[in-house]
Order: sequence, then C-alpha cells, then structure tokens
Amino acid sequence: MEKQPRCKKCGRRLKSTLSIAIGMGPKCAGITSTSAKRVRVQSKPSSRVAFSDKTLDQAQAPPFSGELPKKLLSKRELFRKRMEERRRLFETRLPFQCGLVLPARKPLVYFPLEDGSWREDYSGRVISHERLQQYLIRYRII
Ligand SMILES: [Zn+2]
Repeated sequence: MEKQPRCKKCGRRLKSTLSIAIGMGPKCAGITSTSAKRVRVQSKPSSRVAFSDKTLDQAQAPPFSGELPKKLLSKRELFRKRMEERRRLFETRLPFQCGLVLPARKPLVYFPLEDGSWREDYSGRVISHERLQQYLIRYRII
C-alpha cells in the first residue's frame, strides 16, 4: 500500500520529506500561516449579566462558555514555544525534530553535520544550513 502523501490544502503530491511531515506544500504552508494570523477568537461581551432579586442560584452554565478560547490560546502558546525551542536547537546546531512523516508516523529529525549542513534522518538527505533555514521559516517550524 504505497500511498502518495498529499497536501491537505490543495491536494497536490508532496515531494519533500519536510512537506510530508507538515502535511502541506511550501506554498500552502505560507498561505496558512498568514491566514492563521487573522483568526480571532470571537468572544462577544454582549452577555448582559442581569442581577435580579429572584432566585438565580441555579447557575445555568453553558457547557461551552469559556472553554474554547482558552484551549485555542494555550494551543497557540504551545505551538510558539515549540517553534522557539526548535529555532534555538537549529541555531545552536543541535538535533531537532520537525514532526511526523505520514503515513508511517516516523519522526523527522535533522542532525547537524560537521561541515555545517544538516542530515535528514528520514531520508538520509543532506541539506545546507541556509537552505534548511529557508524551509523551516517558510513552514513556520522555527
Ligand atoms: Zn498545497
């Protein structure tokens, strides 16, 4: 069962291991990152808290109130922390993981080489520091 990994946005076949790990082609990764910035948590402050003398002790807590925005924020925070961590590893030239290469779900790890380039653990491919940096920034990995 040899399944060609495809971009989850446009459906094109993914060639580079990094694209496969991200699940998107470079173009779509770029588009996603800009549109992701525009995503806002819509929280309407329109919920008028009406105090009345009557018994409102029985709190009618809506199951979703407050839950979703909090989750989104922490998720984004986590994402940024991972990004910073990877950037630090990259800049200090230490091995770092980019994600999982589907469908095998193998971790995509880059190892620093003595000549200043990096080796892609998954494919054994060697990539220059500058070129890898370009990719990583484009994919919002670092
Ligand atoms: Zn695409």
